[in-house]
Amino acid sequence: MGLKEDLKTLKEEAKRSLEKAETLETLNEIRVSFLGKKGKLKNILKSLGKLSPEERKEIGQLANSIKDEIEKILREKTELIKKQLLENQLKEKKIDITLPPAWIESGSSHPVISTLIEISEIFISMGFSVAEGPEIEEEKYNFDMLNIPPDHPARDMQDTFFLNNGKILRTHTSPVQIRTMLKNKPPIAIIAPGRVYRKDADPTHSPMFHQIEGLLVDRNVTFRDLKGILKIFLESIFGKNVKIRFRPSYFPFTEPSAEVDIGCTVCGGSGCRVCKDTGWLEILGCGMVDIQVFKDVGIDPEEYTGFAFGLGIERIAMLKYRITDIRLLFTGDMRFNRQFKGIR
Ligand SMILES: [Zn+2]
Repeated sequence: MGLKEDLKTLKEEAKRSLEKAETLETLNEIRVSFLGKKGKLKNILKSLGKLSPEERKEIGQLANSIKDEIEKILREKTELIKKQLLENQLKEKKIDITLPPAWIESGSSHPVISTLIEISEIFISMGFSVAEGPEIEEEKYNFDMLNIPPDHPARDMQDTFFLNNGKILRTHTSPVQIRTMLKNKPPIAIIAPGRVYRKDADPTHSPMFHQIEGLLVDRNVTFRDLKGILKIFLESIFGKNVKIRFRPSYFPFTEPSAEVDIGCTVCGGSGCRVCKDTGWLEILGCGMVDIQVFKDVGIDPEEYTGFAFGLGIERIAMLKYRITDIRLLFTGDMRFNRQFKGIR
């Protein structure tokens, strides 16, 4: 019985191939080559027609049982390989939770930015909103409309950076006052924090520093309102016991003008190097908006009054955190910056 032998040989051959198979691809190749439409089993059964009906029945049954057997082994082997694949995957992606974590250093706010935010929040809590203006500014807004004419000594005093395009780097945040008043009708209550530029560089001056400007315009605004607002502000920053004094001063865009001092935060008023033995520290400039400024922006000075103030953020930050050299704030030295972690 040649066919019987052929079928048995085929079965053994298939079993051996399946035994050696290690991938799903190989299993598929084996299935096609033994059981496929042009496979080895079909090939053997081609000569079935030459047999007697009895023999045909016998061989047919044998062929079917061999086919079932091979298919069963194929299924089992497929399951086994899939299981191994999954196990390998899990093994490779295993996380070792005993390993120490990678060190990630947390960042922190720069003392200037912390101070700027703190100051802004105080004024925002009193109803002021934040206004902005460009750092590359027109002389018109930086000087002329702030009542600083071309021949005014303030233009030399401020040591301006002039640009080739006829514009300047703003020397103060005051032009934001002008831009705001040109765009908005009173009542106006804004603060304008931002960078300003002057040709200065020594332990207490940097060519770039931050100012915050304040402007309030409405009916019946008086110097008393200015004093009240600044008192609340200074007490919020330096504590309820801070001593405050107003000294008459001069600014082209305010009249009357004043400079505000606080009792020295280092020596408490007894006199030290920081306050140059005066017991006082100059902290900000302020005054009532000059009538000429109102006229230039088209606000009727008969109907409205207002006050403005400006201060240096670095100055406040240096006093608050006892920093003696302004340049430390801008060198980017991490040993310095790390000391301010968690201050806000
Ligand atoms: Zn002092």
